[in-house]
Amino acid sequence: MKKFITVENLTVVGIVLGVLAGLYLPELMLNLKFIGDVFLNLLKMIVIPLIFVSIFMSIASLASLDDLKNMGIKAIIYYFSTTALAVLTGVIITNIVKFDTSDIPKGEKPPEVGEFTLETFLDNLIPSNIFESFAEGKAIHVILFSILFAIAVVGLANAKKDRVVGFFDGTNDALMKIAKWIIALSPVGVFSLIGYVVADKGIGVIISLWQYVAVVIGGILIHAVINLGLIAYLVGRFNPFSYFKKVREAILVAFSTCSSSATLPVSLEVATEKAKVDKKVAGFVLPLGATVNMDGTALYEAVAAVFIASVFGIELTLMQQVIIFITATLAAVGAASIPSAGLVTMTLVFSAVGLPLEGIAIIIAVDRFLDMFRTATNVWGDLIGAKIISRLTK
Ligand code: ASP
Repeated sequence: MKKFITVENLTVVGIVLGVLAGLYLPELMLNLKFIGDVFLNLLKMIVIPLIFVSIFMSIASLASLDDLKNMGIKAIIYYFSTTALAVLTGVIITNIVKFDTSDIPKGEKPPEVGEFTLETFLDNLIPSNIFESFAEGKAIHVILFSILFAIAVVGLANAKKDRVVGFFDGTNDALMKIAKWIIALSPVGVFSLIGYVVADKGIGVIISLWQYVAVVIGGILIHAVINLGLIAYLVGRFNPFSYFKKVREAILVAFSTCSSSATLPVSLEVATEKAKVDKKVAGFVLPLGATVNMDGTALYEAVAAVFIASVFGIELTLMQQVIIFITATLAAVGAASIPSAGLVTMTLVFSAVGLPLEGIAIIIAVDRFLDMFRTATNVWGDLIGAKIISRLTK
């Protein structure tokens, strides 16, 4: 009995009870929303300092900057190849399954999402005021600054370097201790988050779009289990199932919060404490991955584009499918690691192939539901990457 009462198992119970309570006691779950919000805020509270400190510590503890280059190149190759594989899986499935979209209303209301272009993304890449970036939670800015800062500190005279590194080493341990306290609250946190979503959205919306929902979830499962599983097994030489058991808490929190960045404290904790991934690698690969590596989002964007094309009766040419492949990969890299971010960057894919942006209004109803699956896959992809790179850089 005692063995059963672990935070991981209680979190599963929290999710199941959350779904049931959302279905049968919706009023109560709407009123209990604040509990989930408190849990989410606690996670978000430590994310930005954690990104800064863990990347800094990871670089500062490497033997040389060549090791940084080695780890960085491997991480980038991993992120891009797995994201591209995810999109490819999405494109292949949508070529096999033909959507029946005859009863789906075209939707007249324009979508309430901002537009995302590659220019604005690149333009926003470099911070002009790092304190503003910290305050606004711009992870990519914090990562860039942390890498620069760490490289600069590594080049300082030993006495100065030791003082700065010693300070951040202690800070890192303290933040991870806070992370552990917050993780202990996850069963209650996920209960409230899931219960609220079910109570607020209901599950009726899924029925009219069931084929689209099934294709996205099916594609995500193929990618998470088969593609990433095989990569883990063949490249990383580890068993993905036993690894999953060790890191499942992070996947459950990702599923419930729909935010890769809010899940970061949990991913760092389970990877280093439970799965014994090298701290230097986890501290670098997980925060960077949470920000740029989103396999679930990439697959989702590709499937959504093909689905909307079918709703509007547009036959996609091979060239348009290639454009979807490229833009969905970029859109996933550009998506922020927060709920529904994938919906915003989808405008890039739609504009590139000339699909009507109104199409987004059609799929908005099921976005939060699909976000759970894609965020869980995004985080699973980061965790597999951390373990593989930890093996490859040994
Ligand atoms: N919610 C996702 C994440 O945080 C991003 C998305 O909307 O696809 O990873």
